[in-house]
Amino acid sequence: MLNIRGDFPIIERLASSANGGIVYLDNAATTQKPKAVIDALNDYYLSFNANVHRGVHRLSVLATEKYEEARVVVQKFLNARESAEIIFTRGTTEAINLVAQCYGGLVVDKGDKVIVTVAEHHSNFVPWQQLCLRQRAEFAVLPVDRQGALDISLLEDELRKGSDTNAGISSGADRSSGRGAKILAIAHIHNVTGAIMPLQEIIALAHRYGAVVLVDGAQGAAHTATDLQQLDCDFYTFSGHKAYAAMGIGVLYGKRELLEAMQPYQFGGEMISEVSVERTTFNELPYKFEAGTPSVADALTLSASLRYLQKTGLDKIAAYEQQLTRYAYSELQKIEGIEFYSPPASSSIISFNIRGISHYDIGVLLDKQGIAVRTGHHCAEPLMHYFGINGTVRISFAPYNTIQEIDKFITALKKACQMLS
Ligand code: PLP
Repeated sequence: MLNIRGDFPIIERLASSANGGIVYLDNAATTQKPKAVIDALNDYYLSFNANVHRGVHRLSVLATEKYEEARVVVQKFLNARESAEIIFTRGTTEAINLVAQCYGGLVVDKGDKVIVTVAEHHSNFVPWQQLCLRQRAEFAVLPVDRQGALDISLLEDELRKGSDTNAGISSGADRSSGRGAKILAIAHIHNVTGAIMPLQEIIALAHRYGAVVLVDGAQGAAHTATDLQQLDCDFYTFSGHKAYAAMGIGVLYGKRELLEAMQPYQFGGEMISEVSVERTTFNELPYKFEAGTPSVADALTLSASLRYLQKTGLDKIAAYEQQLTRYAYSELQKIEGIEFYSPPASSSIISFNIRGISHYDIGVLLDKQGIAVRTGHHCAEPLMHYFGINGTVRISFAPYNTIQEIDKFITALKKACQMLS
């Protein structure tokens, strides 16, 4: 076990709250924050709150230094080539929308194709669907199996085909010009199934067919070590709040040459170089995409959380989370009527239903027993339609969870099932 529970003040507080305490198993929605992160937030507002970049006074200079230092921390965490390739956003959603607008709008034309999987979160689905509708491009949606695995040969078929009918669940196609796939957008780890995508293989394959790859790292960055140079992916996104930092901060990584080619989609302060009545020139990277006053305090919490993860060791965290996940899966397997939508060795997420019982009712009865889980479609309605269900119960782990908490959850689940069947 990782000896880190004490680093998270809220976890102890939740555990000792009224009626036996609360076990938090909704970490894929958002994680709890370690003291180091809360201290970083307090420190900024208590000691050097100031706007960044334009001030000559010492507070502004210090805030700017810390803000830019946070960018370098993210760069090192992801092993990006340079910090100018790291753009701060509000989160994964904003980062993907930025790429869909500014890169998608640039390269996707009538008859081109954007590929996603049916397991994507709405944030990595709707922006591409809307882009394709706008551009009259083909939106190719690849299936996954019941445990979330992607058949790589179907991806290759889809990449290969320029103008044929494809093997996926495509819609809105105008395939007459057959110009092939321009973008593949895929999660690092899917938020319903917890399945880990073989990114290295997927990215190399997409590149062989000339497609640019965006990886939605919302469920990836805090659960497995990510080396962007080794992966060679073109865009990578993640949200701070799912990686132990505050809400309101996220990251878009993009290769310099792609970011350089893109026009900004928000205009205002910070992102300009010169403005006259006639024209405006834009600032260099990364500021070109950071219009307006940024979330400085939140960026500092991200810096603190990533340092915390590095100090704890992402490999150790991943190994421990897998241990928790395997144990929970094996205990769940013993429950009558269980239907899984995750592999036995997912990263840290298990989705399931109990035959004949509503996922919502299970969630409510678990809550009454102090167990916080998520139920519903998890912002992945296409996957729900594809599986023919309207939701699942989802448990998701963080390194502060324990085997004892899983035992509590299993006991509570059995009780809920008894009451509901
Ligand atoms: N992508 C995945 C895989 C997610 O799990 C989520 C959130 O749950 C998102 C994108 C959206 O993240 P955010 O709401 O932080 O922008």
